[in-house]
Amino acid sequence: MTIASILIFAAIYGDTPDMKHAWAVHDINRPKPAKVEVNSKGVPSDAIVLFDGTKESFEKNWRDDKGNASKWSYSKDGYFFTVPGWNNGGNIFTREEFGDCQLHVEFRHDPSNIITDQGAQMRGNSGVFLMNNYEIQVLESYYTSKDAEGTSQYVNNYADGQAGSVYAENPPMVNPAKKPGEWQVYDIVFHQPVWKGGKLVHPGSITVFFNGVLVQDHWEMEGLTTHCVRRPLKEHVTKGPLVFQDHGCIVQFRNIWYRPLPSRWANLTHSNLSACPEKVMELRRETAAKLFAKIKDPKKASADNIKALAEVISYANEGEYAASFWCALEAYRAKKGSEQEVKSVNAALGVLIRNKIIPESAKIK
Ligand code: MG
Repeated sequence: MTIASILIFAAIYGDTPDMKHAWAVHDINRPKPAKVEVNSKGVPSDAIVLFDGTKESFEKNWRDDKGNASKWSYSKDGYFFTVPGWNNGGNIFTREEFGDCQLHVEFRHDPSNIITDQGAQMRGNSGVFLMNNYEIQVLESYYTSKDAEGTSQYVNNYADGQAGSVYAENPPMVNPAKKPGEWQVYDIVFHQPVWKGGKLVHPGSITVFFNGVLVQDHWEMEGLTTHCVRRPLKEHVTKGPLVFQDHGCIVQFRNIWYRPLPSRWANLTHSNLSACPEKVMELRRETAAKLFAKIKDPKKASADNIKALAEVISYANEGEYAASFWCALEAYRAKKGSEQEVKSVNAALGVLIRNKIIPESAKIK
């Protein structure tokens, strides 16, 4: 029998639900994920687009720090960019506020607009500030890698301040920066810190793919972004704007979208990390009730009935469900079916025995 045919015929198959898992392994009753299509620009259908290249999108979704129209400039070529001069435009904020997310941002440095005589931190400096608190540095960093040391183009910058760094905390693992003039991509997975009763229970994390290369691997934040000093994490509201920094340098941005993500700690019904046993049991009972309601005659001594009832008690081995299972099983044991049928019943019972829901002696000999 192939694995596929076992799946079709076996009511229960993988290890059963437990106090941390509301679903069995390979559970056919487990809700299926929603369909997401990705369009020709790479934008998933469930993404919230913050800038699609149009002026309307720029004006609708972005603001200054006071909520007024941003002073940043829009280009008909489908990007927006900082106003020349130190802090002339101020930071730019999304009107949308959000927390945990998958974020896509593209940025570019115009080679003719890179400041080269004011130090490495003025070479196209901006920044992607998640929730206005945690910065992924944006900087022209092509010539910053250690491989370029000793060459005439080498730019000596501190590692925790180059492109792809969690600014002032963690350098990118490698430097996949492209040359000025080329569009570059950040794909970020962000989970904000979790606080309970004023206590930090998880520091949150940042994962960054820079031009498709992993540079931040689930970095757990140490603090709120700042300069020079270490500033510890501090509890804040759970939604905030996405902010791009005005650091007095010209940087261009396009194709910006995000997908809200559930907190890694929000899964209360199926997770070794955060599942709540009461919530797990609630969902298991709900599933058991749905499956039991589909059984026409719970006491009938048929193989199909026993397999269906075995599935029910794998979720909730109690009350009417357990009574019906044992009643049907004992009646079937006296009657017995064909060898093939008994084999299939024993396969279902075997899963329950393996998971210590019923004793070994329940097997039909
Ligand atoms: Mg910056």
